[in-house]
Amino acid sequence: MEEQLARSHRLAALGKMAAGIAHEIRNPLGTLRGFAQYFGARAEDDASREYSSLMIGEVDRLNESISSLLQFSRPREPEFLPLELEDLLEKMEKLLEYDLKEKNITLEKSYTCSIQIEGDGDLLLQVLLNVLKNALNASETDGLISVTCENDDEHIYITVKDNGVGMSRVECEQMFDPFFTTRKTGTGLGLTVSHQIVEQHQGLFKVTSEQGKGTSVTIILPQRQREQ
Ligand code: ADP
Repeated sequence: MEEQLARSHRLAALGKMAAGIAHEIRNPLGTLRGFAQYFGARAEDDASREYSSLMIGEVDRLNESISSLLQFSRPREPEFLPLELEDLLEKMEKLLEYDLKEKNITLEKSYTCSIQIEGDGDLLLQVLLNVLKNALNASETDGLISVTCENDDEHIYITVKDNGVGMSRVECEQMFDPFFTTRKTGTGLGLTVSHQIVEQHQGLFKVTSEQGKGTSVTIILPQRQREQ
């Protein structure tokens, strides 16, 4: 309990700082993007055109990181509505279809049953996307990712399992910490935000991982939201 309180104080302080920095950065980034486009349109050789499009791509990546930062610092209240879990999982798959194909990853699904839950569809989709994206990033080309979904009387269990690089015990302990990332282009905020969202839904994460073998992430959510 005390640890949770300390964690939420730490997150609140970090969040305030992050929001301040994010606002400071967003405007100049817009200007940089505009000029990169301007010079790209007037470039007379291929190299200059390529550099300009690289600059635009990098600015877009920074903007995405800033969106995560802002969301982390100012999480919105969920709007709980009845949801069909299968719809959410299908949306998740559609949105990452291209990335899965690009790495030739096989996605094994077993969620034939129709399960209804009470939740915020946009927020939960974000969690699912983050978890599947992480599995994808950890996977080698031609890897295998399985998504299973089960339920009992009160809860649903969504498990995303990959046979990718896996994590050490220390990495496993830190994976939900803000800004913890082992990826060159990572923000380390995906799972922090996902953790916040799952907590808002009175749920929790269970993770098992073995280096060199793979990782299994289970999201446990109550089917109905209790009054808080
Ligand atoms: P990011 O994806 O920007 O690095 P996340 O918060 O989503 O940020 O993840 C934090 C870190 O947790 C990742 O950089 C990675 O080290 C670790 N991680 C998360 N999921 C997996 C996974 N399925 N396999 C291996 N490592 C993982």
